[in-house]
Amino acid sequence: MEKSNGYFGQFGGAYVPESLKVVLNDLEKTFYRYIDDEDFNRELDYYFKQYVGRESPLYYAERLTKHAGGAKIYLKREDLNHTGAHKINNALGQILLAKRVNKKRIIAETGAGQHGVATATVCALFGIDCTVYMGAVDVKRQEHNVFRMKMLGANVVPVFDGNATLKEAVDKALEDFVLNSQDTFYLFGSAVGPHPYPLMVREFQSVIGREARKQILQQEGRLADYLIACIGGGSNAIGLFHPFVDDKEVNMIGVEPGGKGMDSGFHAASISKGDIGVIHGFKCYILDEETTNIHSVAAGLDYPGVGPEHSYYKDTGRAKYVSVTDREALDAFYKLSKLEGIIPALESSHAVAYGMKLASTLPKDKIIIINLSGRGDKDMEQIMEMGNRI
Ligand SMILES: *Cc1c(COP(=O)(O)O)cnc(C)c1O
Repeated sequence: MEKSNGYFGQFGGAYVPESLKVVLNDLEKTFYRYIDDEDFNRELDYYFKQYVGRESPLYYAERLTKHAGGAKIYLKREDLNHTGAHKINNALGQILLAKRVNKKRIIAETGAGQHGVATATVCALFGIDCTVYMGAVDVKRQEHNVFRMKMLGANVVPVFDGNATLKEAVDKALEDFVLNSQDTFYLFGSAVGPHPYPLMVREFQSVIGREARKQILQQEGRLADYLIACIGGGSNAIGLFHPFVDDKEVNMIGVEPGGKGMDSGFHAASISKGDIGVIHGFKCYILDEETTNIHSVAAGLDYPGVGPEHSYYKDTGRAKYVSVTDREALDAFYKLSKLEGIIPALESSHAVAYGMKLASTLPKDKIIIINLSGRGDKDMEQIMEMGNRI
């Protein structure tokens, strides 16, 4: 792989103290050393297949298509992966890197707990010590995932600083990384953070798009007209999009969480509503937390920043970014459950909502691929509590 300068246009980079820069340079070396290494990729493929259950199906959703009444809708079934979402792809890639350089300890941040669970899972798989930093508020809100992580043998450390949510958890993990870099690997969860993380996470998630490309060619004899994915940090979306970037006829659409509405002050639509700035050591579109309450019905989408590569595609126009509200996502959640027998994650429901809307405006010979990033089992408690109130 050609060496990157760590930027996507003006976005990305590594705006971090010198002590962390040294550690990240080391990580970058490790990444380039193994990303094209035959042995490394053989091992990664083995675990994708035998452990995660890849490849994930590209499923033609016939009843959903009929219901929308336009373009053909395909679902890329990342919900069928072991642990129920796309996050395991990246966790496996990074832990195999950690193993290659003999790190004895893994640390990670988690917000809703999904990345923490994926990390705890691969640490159990390889018998590596695991510490997950999690905001104390999130620890309370996501009891279930905390329990899952502990069950898998991870040490969950609540962080009480500031708002005691994801942002503070990342800060604590970075601190730990600098102090203990000799024996510790920081396994980052989304296509955000300082270089080389956005690049590294994108590479490990690109298995989604590589498979989808092959599958749609097999099933339809051509590429899709539209790719649609939800955007939290942007890892499932960039994983689907990236292998199609040079296929100019393929339109790419990222769906941001519109929360209670784009003018309500309660959403997390960083690209649509944010300004350019630096967060967690990288440049991207960011929401001002003074004026916006970072909110989504889907806990995995409520991040104030967004991946630098998406920020860049917004500016170049290579991808388009839209939003759907909590209400629309919830409607899509019920629709997909009833029409296809597939209960999606609330995050993925955002992509489904926009995909159905778009399909209804297109002729029947158009093709849409929606990334179903995860399954909804984790959301059952929340849905039960909410009933139909939103
Ligand atoms: C974490 C998560 C997301 C959001 O993260 P991205 O990095 O934007 O993909 C989306 N869907 C599911 C199921 C998740 O667990």
